[in-house]
Amino acid sequence: MPELRQNMATKEWVIIATERAERPDGFVQSEALSITGDQPTFDPTCPFCPGNEELDLEIECWPERDVWQTRVVHNKFPALSKDDPLTRKFDGVHRWISGAGHHEIVVDHPKHNTTWALMAPNEIHAVLEMFQRRGWSIREDERVEQIIYFKNHGHRAGASLKHTHSQIIALPIVPTNIRQRLEEARRYFDDYGQNVFRVMVENELGLGERILVESKHFVAFVLYAAPAPFHTWIIPRQQSISFLYAQPEELADLAEVLVNVLRRLYFGLRDPSYNLIIRSAPVKEISNDYYQWYITIVPRLSYAAGFELGSGMFINPTLPEGCADFLRKVKI
Ligand SMILES: [Zn+2]
Repeated sequence: MPELRQNMATKEWVIIATERAERPDGFVQSEALSITGDQPTFDPTCPFCPGNEELDLEIECWPERDVWQTRVVHNKFPALSKDDPLTRKFDGVHRWISGAGHHEIVVDHPKHNTTWALMAPNEIHAVLEMFQRRGWSIREDERVEQIIYFKNHGHRAGASLKHTHSQIIALPIVPTNIRQRLEEARRYFDDYGQNVFRVMVENELGLGERILVESKHFVAFVLYAAPAPFHTWIIPRQQSISFLYAQPEELADLAEVLVNVLRRLYFGLRDPSYNLIIRSAPVKEISNDYYQWYITIVPRLSYAAGFELGSGMFINPTLPEGCADFLRKVKI
């Protein structure tokens, strides 16, 4: 029988359509598609490959220019402008704010044919440290209210360049999607005196059936109310509202957990496209007891269509417990 499940943190409902149930292995990508590791290690036309760097766009390299491991550049076609002043207009009907903000690209690795699933944990750690360094630097900008860190892997996830990279966008507002999450977490805390994310993690650890990885500092699991097959959250064990406050040993541990989860997707499903998002509180929030930063990984194995647009709900044709079981069995 089909069922509706609610995400206790976001209050979003999904339909788990077991009637049209697809087995998790039905999502293994076609042998006909070339996977990241099979591409050439260097592409002479790629702006992210060493030797082709566009130096005028460069913001920062680590460790240094000639031997960089990760590199941050301005997006050539930024969604927001770092130089525009923040101005607001309201004509009584429409609201308008100038497109002030930041749009940076993190080139994750010098090699053209790698991705997080194939990188070493210390290499991903370097990317996470770069995110944090850039986050603290961008936070100095008084115009910025929210920073979104994300990665699009594969063309179905919206990646236009194959060379592994991530993005940081800093906004002059707090988007509705984030405000709703904060409000729901606040409401839960007011009702029950507990942090909803902590309750969720304790419940998942108790049940164990959707857990992918447990480490000293993080828990990774397929969501109970997963909107799509293999939709995964990674939540810190230590309560904290922002990725900016993650401690050095937490970042090192997180790199190990990310490699573990992403290798399961890469080898289990043959390098599927996915989006990875770090969800943090607005940058000017210092601390609270009710929110929690976390990471979402969304493999792009099905397309949203009219029903999703019409309802804001998703239909997931797999059982989350089955997806977790499938990924746990993948040999990495
Ligand atoms: Zn490249």
